[in-house]
Amino acid sequence: MKDQRLVYLDRVSKVYGTAAHPVYAMREVTLDVQPGEFFSLLGSSGSGKTTTLRLIGGFELPEAGHVYLGGKDVTQLPAYRRDVHTVFQSYALFPHMTVVENIAYPLKLAKEPQSAIAERVQETLKMFRIPDLGDRRPAQLSGGQQQRVALARALINRPKVLLLDEPLSALDAKIREEVRQELRALQQETNLTFIYVTHDQEEAMALSDRIAVMHNGQVKQVGTPREIYNHPADLFVAQFVGKANFLQGAIADLSDTTATLQTQGASFTVHRQPNAAIPLQKGTDATLMIRPERLQLNPDTALPNRLSGQLTHLTYIGQLLEATIETPLGTLRVTQLGHTALQPGEVELGWNPDDCQIVDYSATR
Ligand code: ADP
Ligand code: MG
Repeated sequence: MKDQRLVYLDRVSKVYGTAAHPVYAMREVTLDVQPGEFFSLLGSSGSGKTTTLRLIGGFELPEAGHVYLGGKDVTQLPAYRRDVHTVFQSYALFPHMTVVENIAYPLKLAKEPQSAIAERVQETLKMFRIPDLGDRRPAQLSGGQQQRVALARALINRPKVLLLDEPLSALDAKIREEVRQELRALQQETNLTFIYVTHDQEEAMALSDRIAVMHNGQVKQVGTPREIYNHPADLFVAQFVGKANFLQGAIADLSDTTATLQTQGASFTVHRQPNAAIPLQKGTDATLMIRPERLQLNPDTALPNRLSGQLTHLTYIGQLLEATIETPLGTLRVTQLGHTALQPGEVELGWNPDDCQIVDYSATR
């Protein structure tokens, strides 16, 4: 992908509150969004997602840093002079206007000719699969339909960037998934750039080309859903995204490509991530992470990493098996595809050095 940086935040900080009681909503946030990307800001409540979006939209001024749109420094530029459009959590449709009037509103503001407006509105209604709802008012629409209208209005004058702040959070689960898929399809059809805020990791995973994981006003990691899941940058990201098992130990041995974690009575080999910025040293305490589906139950081949334990719980969720294993090093969770004949009792666990990762360390010894 050619680096074009449609949106670029350069060490942006935003502080609320007073000098005596500052609230650091953004701490030196640096990120770039490429044209045509579906980019998500993922984090729990209060992590700084909305503030980041508002900074891009031009609704806030940063205390430090710069915001660039299309290579131009827009840090001081007000919202209405930026080529972005924001859809907030509440739909904010005009209640006294029909669907058609709501959708046409941005074009009217832009003083487009009447005939062009009518044509664009019809096209848009079709694109959003709501061609028959044009004459209704917002109160006569379901939540999902209202959100479609809000999106249609946001997209009608083709902003370079669409900012979406938890747009699906008011919808119930089934509709949410429906609108989610439509949103993704829409983004791919239009090839517009979406910046999407959510606290829902599944939603971020399903929708995004890339995700920025935020915590305490900081960006912890930026990557594709796969990168973030398979190679979390630190313990926080490993815990926040997906399920994970953790083993505590100390680094007993190190080479350029592998590390050996020594725990009580066992040692495990890890392939080191070439890009991991972790300055491991012999003797440091470290935390090893293994995703539940990377653990193999009673493996038929000899795997370098092995641990035995007691299988205490088995749950079948469709084709997926979830097992709880009590080991001397703690409780581990395993998920596997398919139904092997498993029973509670003694089991062997095994995993490969590629299937685990050091996510935390501290040189306290
Ligand atoms: P998120 O959208 O991830 O939930 P926000 O960006 O809304 O997080 O908020 C980040 C932090 O900044 C929170 O601690 C929040 O309380 C604080 N904050 C946000 N907006 C304001 C404001 N207008 N005044 C004071 N504090 C604010
Ligand atoms: Mg928010």
